[in-house]
Amino acid sequence: MCVTERAVISIDGVVQGVGFRPFVYREAVARNLRGFVRNDAAGVLIDIEGGAPDLADFLTLLETSPPPLAHLGRVRREAAPPAHHPGFRIAQSDAGTRATAMVLADVATCDACLAECLDPLDRRHRYPFTNCTHCGPRFTIIERVPYDRAGTTMAGFPVCAACQAEYDDPSNRRFHAQPIACPDCGPVLRFRGADGVELAADGALDGAVGLLEAGGILALKGLGGYHLACDATRADAVRTLRSRKARDAKPLAVMADVSWVDRLANPDAVEMALLRSSARPIVLLARRADAPLADNVAPGVGTLGLMLPYTPLHHLLVAGLGRPVVLTSGNRADEPIATDDLDALEHLAEIADGFLLHDRPIAMRADDSVTRVVLGKSAPIRRSRGMAPLPVPLARTVGTPILGVGGQQKNTFCLLRGDVAVLSPHIGDMDHPDARQAWRDSLDHLGRLFDVTPTVVAHDLHPDYASTSLALALPAATRVGVQHHHAHLASLMAEHRLDQPMIGVVFDGAGLGTDGAVWGGEFLVGDARAVARRAHLAPVRLPGGDRAARRPDRMALAHLWRAYDGKLPRDMPAALAALADADWHLLPAMLGRGFQSPLTTSAGRLFDAVAALCGIRRSAAFEGQAAMELEAVAHRTAPARYAFDLREGPAAWVLDPAPVVRAVTEDVAAGMDTGAVAGAFHRALADGIVQTAARLRDETGITVVGLTGGVFQNALLVELATSTLTDAGFGVYRHQRVPCNDGGLSLGQAWVAAALHPAAGD
Ligand code: ZN
Ligand code: ZN
Ligand code: FE
Repeated sequence: MCVTERAVISIDGVVQGVGFRPFVYREAVARNLRGFVRNDAAGVLIDIEGGAPDLADFLTLLETSPPPLAHLGRVRREAAPPAHHPGFRIAQSDAGTRATAMVLADVATCDACLAECLDPLDRRHRYPFTNCTHCGPRFTIIERVPYDRAGTTMAGFPVCAACQAEYDDPSNRRFHAQPIACPDCGPVLRFRGADGVELAADGALDGAVGLLEAGGILALKGLGGYHLACDATRADAVRTLRSRKARDAKPLAVMADVSWVDRLANPDAVEMALLRSSARPIVLLARRADAPLADNVAPGVGTLGLMLPYTPLHHLLVAGLGRPVVLTSGNRADEPIATDDLDALEHLAEIADGFLLHDRPIAMRADDSVTRVVLGKSAPIRRSRGMAPLPVPLARTVGTPILGVGGQQKNTFCLLRGDVAVLSPHIGDMDHPDARQAWRDSLDHLGRLFDVTPTVVAHDLHPDYASTSLALALPAATRVGVQHHHAHLASLMAEHRLDQPMIGVVFDGAGLGTDGAVWGGEFLVGDARAVARRAHLAPVRLPGGDRAARRPDRMALAHLWRAYDGKLPRDMPAALAALADADWHLLPAMLGRGFQSPLTTSAGRLFDAVAALCGIRRSAAFEGQAAMELEAVAHRTAPARYAFDLREGPAAWVLDPAPVVRAVTEDVAAGMDTGAVAGAFHRALADGIVQTAARLRDETGITVVGLTGGVFQNALLVELATSTLTDAGFGVYRHQRVPCNDGGLSLGQAWVAAALHPAAGD
């Protein structure tokens, strides 16, 4: 008889809602081990005893091959005297005192559940809420921890006998699956047509498919909010959706069955893996020229935002229609995604011709995530459903809970606690009062789930950001104002767990500088604690201030004015010449003396100006539109043709685009191909980055460069800059976990605050 040993193991990390307890149960029983496993507020507790070799074997398995969705944090193990447990069981959850268990993100429908949905003989045939321990809703239904059915929005659905039997059977895939459901006991689908007629259950799906087939606009309740859908192959349906949603130009995302992917795009292996990943983000792919989609789905760009179905409801809908659907957030332009049923019916009534509804409440809103593959790695553009609130591990433990409130556009907030950062799902544009309410609600919710009451609050320096006002209204002990571009760089450092100083190339649309000017083309040298602005793009007038972001043509005039010393060139592109004539009386005041035209070093606005010079776009429906289109047409292998001028300014190096602006103007006037001009511009900017970084390396000895800020959503610029920097001997970092745009700002704000207040409030 071998010796009996006992171990009490507590594990934190993402261990709830991932089938961890059933896994422990099965493996313990298989080894004749006794004791119990239970969820507690910290994660999972295992009290286990049995033969020493069996126990050792179990412990090895636990650490080396836990369930696929689990992310183990700390594993603490103590020996204990034998307790003579009678067998092994899954014990009642301990509500505990601190809610520190990591809350899992939502998981796309697994293959086994999908097979059941499609099997006419299965009791879950065509049931849209089928899930198991490996898949299904998590974050969007969790109201409190520990993660048990009673703490989710499934609490109101008593389990039927058949589901209970599965839930209790350790050999079943649904053993302790909290959102378990079937047609007899789970949420019910219903469809409400324009005529007010309601169809229930299976008829509801047919009603919704019928509406899409007829070219109608469908509002459907998804996982983290309402979506608007229409047939993606019908230009008339897409046009209706755009006009009713007041979304004229932004590319729309498409959801399609996996069998359609090859007809729409040619994803490589990394892109395909992302499409199929359990987060199921929208992946920006190079669109096939012959993709059978309406032209107005994604006009002007060569890319297509594609996602695969991620709930049984989506699978059934897309399969029912037999074609891809446009799927976009259920809101009017710039409002947060609707999650409340009454709200949605009211807000979306003018947009949708019919509603596909169900009775499972949404606890937490989460828009779809968006990502793109750059140089073989995921470069997130929006980190939301399926990704938030999975923790981002930090380089060290913070001494006190910290909140970064985020920026004004693409807002997220970020909580630092212990050695992880938790970023909220995408909240979006804070201009709208509903967005500010969504922000407050989400902060309350995440604060409760993760048991964080921040004592340090970090915010942008901009006094007019709604997030800044919200920060100032919070009852925190310490507030820290963080310069916008410093926050971008710190965000990159935090996600890569870097502590050494680096050369940060921070290119975006706009952020308030420490000198009160509008920055956006910055070379910052330093670390999370402090940075020095060692170089920047040459300042140029921003005609009309913030509104210039929608007027690439005015930015082009501002750059021309500067490049030609207060005159305009003889050979102006025709469209700009007309504008210059119309605005001629204003130009000397605005561009010469700066009337209502602050100075900016924005790289985003430089892209706008070049796009307008190339004749690509005069006015933009959204910030960054012209830059996206400039990238789309650019020849990727254009030879070097233009060069920025790098010179020493009074306080910092100045990277001056004037020679590039003049050369572009001459080439366009000479009738040169737009793609060649655009490609050469990208290359020139990449060369300018490397030239500047090399000067800063000479001065500081720092050989590591970080690329951050929204301009680096531009894959061509990242590729050119990275290869040129690498050739010049630099180590190059870019974002792979959080967005390079303002969606990642909150992490950087919080990380700067953590560096300045390592243990504030303790
Ligand atoms: Zn499943
Ligand atoms: Zn049931
Ligand atoms: Fe920014």
